[in-house]
Amino acid sequence: MYEFAVAPAITNLRRRGAEITEVTPNGLGAELELEPGDRITRVNGRPVRDYLDFRFQTAGETELVVEVRKTTGEDWELQIERAEDEDFGFSFEQIVPRQCANECLFCFCKGNPADARPSLFVRDEDIRLSFLYGNYTTLTSITDDEMARIIEQRLSPQYVSIHATDLDVRAKLLGIEKRRADISGQMSRLLDAGIEIHAQIVLCPKINDGEILRRTIADLAADYPRVTSVAIVPLGLTRYNTDSRLTPVTPEFCRETISEVTKIQKQLRQQLGTTFAFLGDEIYLRAGRPVPRREHYGNYPQIEDGIGMVRSFENEFNQLLHRLERRPLKEAQKIFGTILTGTLFARELRKMIDKLNSRFGTQIHVVPVENRYFGGDVSVAGLLTGGDFVAERDHVRGNFVVIPKHTLKSDEEIMLDGMSLPALQKEFGLPLYPADLNSFSGLLSRLSQ
Ligand code: SF4
Repeated sequence: MYEFAVAPAITNLRRRGAEITEVTPNGLGAELELEPGDRITRVNGRPVRDYLDFRFQTAGETELVVEVRKTTGEDWELQIERAEDEDFGFSFEQIVPRQCANECLFCFCKGNPADARPSLFVRDEDIRLSFLYGNYTTLTSITDDEMARIIEQRLSPQYVSIHATDLDVRAKLLGIEKRRADISGQMSRLLDAGIEIHAQIVLCPKINDGEILRRTIADLAADYPRVTSVAIVPLGLTRYNTDSRLTPVTPEFCRETISEVTKIQKQLRQQLGTTFAFLGDEIYLRAGRPVPRREHYGNYPQIEDGIGMVRSFENEFNQLLHRLERRPLKEAQKIFGTILTGTLFARELRKMIDKLNSRFGTQIHVVPVENRYFGGDVSVAGLLTGGDFVAERDHVRGNFVVIPKHTLKSDEEIMLDGMSLPALQKEFGLPLYPADLNSFSGLLSRLSQ
């Protein structure tokens, strides 16, 4: 039982090689008669497990021997000559994430309703996805092969959930033995090999706050600049995660955390020249405090973890206002509609939209949407579902509705509760636009035509 629990888990059965999913007409792949479904198994004699391996093993190579398992079951060996920067003209299947062997107290999987989409229960812990998308791993079940791969293929930066450098506390939070919670050896090996690490702390009141938090930040800062930054994000509880060992985050807790961490940040800026330890936007919003100024975030090292999003959004929104002043919308008064967003961000967004309305005559309303699907203290826009939007139908005004684009799956127009975009649009009986700030200015121009 125990042996099973600590073994690195694999989500799906994995077949040899990496599967080709698309072949560009007239590209090199098409010329070689490769087809969707074929699997590349080796390049120059080295095994290919996924597209990262393929990318690594072909980088800079102009003469290649590529072994392919065709969909028919035949094995081909292709001698390829190509110009150094010539594209292969095919794409690969997505990486199947490896799963963790932890039992974190606060794991988001425990916070899902039982009938949530199966993909919401995937406990991914994959150094490849960490490198590609900034997903956090804990390094508690990383294998020697994976360590060697990070170093050989320079899969840097890596994003590591530390939570606490005190091993008893880390073991408690991850729900594992203290021996496994100790990743000092793995961290040193990666840092010594020049792999950059961004760290994360999920802040749980009464467990890793106070002195534990101060020590964790100080221990990580001792490794700056090899450890580049730390994200401190608050524990989020849905109505389904009722673990009595967890204490919910309150506005008061957020205010205390800001006051304590702001002092530490000031010292770190003097010592290191960077804020280094960044508090999640949610902490400021829940405390009812303004998010820090632009300079606080430097080059936004933790933007993938949502840190600095509000500041970045507001800055870009102000730029949009300047652009509109130089080139006004044709018939701005025609723009009459509603933006639906999470309760936490609605207040900030409303301030910005009010400026737009008063300067240009648009009539856009911002409606905060409560998260009924997850409940608890979930208030971020990205976790809203189709049912949550529908519940606010009576508050919609005007002739269009905008919802946050990131409530949809990245590769499909479907929300977390399985409702599709066309189904939601039908519920509103109005044009429905999923948008982010990048697409918002284009949308305004279109709506004013
Ligand atoms: S929070 Fe992450 S590391 Fe912890 S159990 Fe869940 S998926 Fe695994």
